[in-house]
Amino acid sequence: MASNRKILLLPGDGIGPEVTRQAARVLEYFDKRRIASFEVKEDLVGGAAIDKHGTPLSDAAMKAALEADAILLGAVGGPKWDNLPFAQKPERGLLRLRKDMQLFANLRPAFVFAALADASTLKREVVEGLDMIIVRELTGGVYFGEPRGITNLPDGSRKGINTQVYTTDEIVRVARVGFELARKRGKRVCSVEKANVMEAGVLWREEVTKLHAAEYSDVQLSHMYADNCAMQLVRNPKQFDVIVTDNLFGDILSDCAAMLTGSLGMLPSASLGATDRNGRRKALYEPVHGSAPDITGKNLANPLASILSLAMMLRYSFDMDNEAKLVEQAVAKALAGGARTGDIAQAGASRISTSEMGDRVLGELQKLA
Ligand code: NAD
Repeated sequence: MASNRKILLLPGDGIGPEVTRQAARVLEYFDKRRIASFEVKEDLVGGAAIDKHGTPLSDAAMKAALEADAILLGAVGGPKWDNLPFAQKPERGLLRLRKDMQLFANLRPAFVFAALADASTLKREVVEGLDMIIVRELTGGVYFGEPRGITNLPDGSRKGINTQVYTTDEIVRVARVGFELARKRGKRVCSVEKANVMEAGVLWREEVTKLHAAEYSDVQLSHMYADNCAMQLVRNPKQFDVIVTDNLFGDILSDCAAMLTGSLGMLPSASLGATDRNGRRKALYEPVHGSAPDITGKNLANPLASILSLAMMLRYSFDMDNEAKLVEQAVAKALAGGARTGDIAQAGASRISTSEMGDRVLGELQKLA
């Protein structure tokens, strides 16, 4: 099968290379079994790129990223580079990728595997079967709005300013991602803002409502204030299918939703850009966790967030929903069979290594395929 699926791996720093390796094995498996073929390249990002090229993302790596259909990133950063000036830090590599690829929609699923329902801080019955996704606007809003800054006042005190600003286009394009996603899932979108106290929220609500009426009336739309949403996420998270929200509220609510599911080592994410002429979106997939310097190089990291990020890539970049489900089922079966890395193991239970977790997922894939 000829491949028109170009993937760039950017393993990065710390446990990044260890977990990305296990996800790459899944790709190799599909290739070997002739289920699907991929053209996979690899480059450096973050501290690894600083050490080799003196910059957290070389122009060549940026070019490769723009040419790829999808990117799988590991993690960036670590103590070795902590004291560099802000503009040279490993994180700048990730920010450049997001900016140059115009990744405006951040997707954070919150999915609870039955075998891990007891790992949540909430009661099993509240989280068991949870399957929702938060779509966060990523390139606008209060983190980027002007005016911003800290100024001195005549009386010697100071004033800090940030500005929440959204345009119709910014709202519509991210809402569209939410509606499209909902069509492939439970067909329900909850749009979240604070229209009760913010004009940007009023505009958000109006534009989402208009888009819904014009193009997505087959999807059920509801609206919720962000403070209520925070409460509902811990009270009854299973009421949600797709939440669409702005940059600031999405930042907070997605971390809250993530923790419903237990460990950082289980959480995938996707960041999507605009569709190109061929209908394909620029997209970057990465685990939510960082480079975990405390366990780097010890073969202890949980690779499932990276493997589940790859499943998201199959689904959203390559329309390979069946294969994405296969990977997710293989993860579920490995967990049901008792496979646990340290981060998700109960006290006293046996723990397996990063590569053993990869072996277990591949073993289950083989049985399923
Ligand atoms: P972290 O996510 O790296 O680690 C937090 C804790 O979770 C650690 O105890 C770690 O061992 C554990 N953990 C994380 N991922 C795990 C996994 N897959 N399996 C098992 N345990 C896991 O966050 P941190 O310690 O705040 O940051 C460490 C470095 O990572 C910093 O340099 C930070 O800037 C960077 N960081 C990068 C990203 C990214 O690349 N997107 C995100 C967050 C933090």
